[in-house]
Amino acid sequence: MKPLLLSLLIAVTLWADAHIFVYHRFGDSRYPTTNTTIEELKKEFEYFKNSGYEVIPLKKLISTLKKKKNIPNNWIVLTIDDNFKSFYTNALPIFKEYNYPFSVFVYVEATQKRYPDYLTWEQLREIKKSGSIEFHSYGHKHMTYLSDAEIKEDFEKGLALFEKELRIKPKVFTYPYGEYSPRVQKIAKTYGFDAIINQNMGAVSDFSDVYDMDRTALVGKSNLKLYLRYKALNAKWKEPIMFPDNAILKSLYVKTNEKMKKGGVYITGHGWLEAKIENGDFKMELNKKLINKRSRIVISVGNKISTKLLIKDKYGIR
Ligand SMILES: [Zn+2]
Repeated sequence: MKPLLLSLLIAVTLWADAHIFVYHRFGDSRYPTTNTTIEELKKEFEYFKNSGYEVIPLKKLISTLKKKKNIPNNWIVLTIDDNFKSFYTNALPIFKEYNYPFSVFVYVEATQKRYPDYLTWEQLREIKKSGSIEFHSYGHKHMTYLSDAEIKEDFEKGLALFEKELRIKPKVFTYPYGEYSPRVQKIAKTYGFDAIINQNMGAVSDFSDVYDMDRTALVGKSNLKLYLRYKALNAKWKEPIMFPDNAILKSLYVKTNEKMKKGGVYITGHGWLEAKIENGDFKMELNKKLINKRSRIVISVGNKISTKLLIKDKYGIR
């Protein structure tokens, strides 16, 4: 009986929370790290179709989350960052063939200044008829290195052009390079978006924060089946909250409701460590030097994960 039970469990865990994925370029072999080949895209779409997944519009996931309704285990949301031309020429016909909804996040300056690799306003207006068009900043800058005034200027310039050209207000925002700090997030939230999506690998569950939704990149050779197994871990991060001043990550303190006694902690540049969980709390001294100015701390219990992105903020205030 045991092997059967085990395979049954694996089959069940394959469906785990909703997942938001992000693509960038399609069928564009010049940039292998941000590209998805057409062959790979079709393989992924076939997998969704044949494994009982439902690809839903982003707004449906957001409204379900806001109404605090149950998030089904088989929901998938597809997003595309950076308004590259290759979406229109190579991928859009396939999205249409499968009838899969999508959201394109626009780097406004690239379209406004007609950078050759990017979609024109005309093409975006056409795409708008079959999917949603959302906001990905004006200048695609590393926002944690901008002052408050510079961040606000970027939003205001980008949103004004977006609304003028597309005649709609974007509902959702994604950070350039997926980079943010508490300060950047606080400013982004003042622009009235329904949701803000990060680029931290994970899943979306009933308790997820609509202004900090996890999203997994599907680029290069991605391990889709593994990503689909991840569930969201309900975690309250007390420490760390932001990139430490001296780059020394002193301690970890995260509250969860988990019953298990052991979990894992991943730190960029240091790999996975075993963590003791006491009454649901991850509480440990780390004293690790963060090697990257962009580091991720991931805590895990079984296949549930929660990520804290730590990026050096030039104006590092809470
Ligand atoms: Zn981008």
